[in-house]
Amino acid sequence: MNGHTADYDVIVAGAGPAGSVTAKTVANEGYRVLVLEKNTACRSPCAGYISRTINIEVPGESVIQSKITRMRTYFPDLSFHDFQLNGFVVDRPLFDMELARKAVESGADIKWNSPLVGMGAEGVRFRDGKSSGKIIVGTDGVFSKTAALLGLGKQRFATCAQYHMKGIHTLSQTSEIFFDALCAPGGYIWVYPTGADSAKVGLGITKGRISPRGYLDSFISKSHASGRFCGEKKEYITGALPVGGLREKLVFNNVLLVGDSAGMADPVTGAGINNAMLAGEIAGKTIIKALEKDDLTILLEYETQIKKLLGKPLARALEKRKQMDACCNNEQLQEHLPELWVTFKKYWL
Ligand SMILES: Cc1cc2nc3c(=O)[nH]c(=O)nc-3n(C[C@H](O)[C@H](O)[C@H](O)COP(=O)(O)OP(=O)(O)OC[C@H]3O[C@@H](n4cnc5c(N)ncnc54)[C@H](O)[C@@H]3O)c2cc1C
Repeated sequence: MNGHTADYDVIVAGAGPAGSVTAKTVANEGYRVLVLEKNTACRSPCAGYISRTINIEVPGESVIQSKITRMRTYFPDLSFHDFQLNGFVVDRPLFDMELARKAVESGADIKWNSPLVGMGAEGVRFRDGKSSGKIIVGTDGVFSKTAALLGLGKQRFATCAQYHMKGIHTLSQTSEIFFDALCAPGGYIWVYPTGADSAKVGLGITKGRISPRGYLDSFISKSHASGRFCGEKKEYITGALPVGGLREKLVFNNVLLVGDSAGMADPVTGAGINNAMLAGEIAGKTIIKALEKDDLTILLEYETQIKKLLGKPLARALEKRKQMDACCNNEQLQEHLPELWVTFKKYWL
């Protein structure tokens, strides 16, 4: 393997869940890991809903804002369907900071305020310097600079907006999902309770003529008539997530893509935290093996494992995304929703 005198064994670009889990896994084995983070702290915009479909390690109870035991999905005519499921809502900046802290505890170095800006055979350039590394991991999210530097195309994305609303009526331990082609074209509205009278109310859209915030404001004021969401709008955030499905290639010689940079978020639900963490662990373990055996070709095993694990569910969700794109009005959405949303049996047929 090239670069025996490199500053680091592994350089990870992006301190989101994918980056911190990768860094922690590799650093735990005593390898030298550098994490470059664009911002001065973790602040990925997110609703922070995590379902317990996989056994992810929550970094401390203090990051959990509420427990969820049921998802209520509303059709455009406001009839609804309930589904029992276990999950929780986390404070995402805290959650990410805790994961980053665990990576540092395991021995990784983090450089904040240091976006990756260049990449070459010897390593990386960031805002105020450069570092050499044997393996580079792009965990820099949906608009990945790493992917751009590899010459890869941009991913299709959904745009999102969210308020943390206070003084509103919420349903106990219940996340609410609203489908309405006029209020959230090509997407949906979420309500994730964070307490008895507070919730994150947000939406993601893939079509539309105005900003996601415009759609969200309009949904909230429309709901006033029914007495819902008449509280204070606090902590506005906006962001994007990939909806184009898994990238075809995830490994490029000594460079790996993990998490949103690789298109691992679900193209319909937008959920990406679980997959980012799962993939970070698999990437980390594969990297350890490659370093131990001094053989970069082993990194290809990461791609094989990810495709085996996430390939099918993400391909199915991408198919559903295409069907959802074809639903242009509420009549069509009303009819086809059970085929398009994960809590319905028909989705899985
Ligand atoms: C509004 C919104 C709500 C969402 N809600 C949920 C939800 O409830 N549940 C769920 O599971 N998923 C949700 N998602 C999706 C979820 O946030 C992502 O799938 C997840 O964060 C992916 O993790 P990641 O580590 O791959 O990327 P990210 O969390 O995006 O982390 C990427 C990191 O890289 C950094 N970075 C970017 N460019 C550079 C660079 N050039 N150099 C260095 N660092 C860089 C960023 O600052 C960031 O810290 C939501 C997304 C949005 C936008």
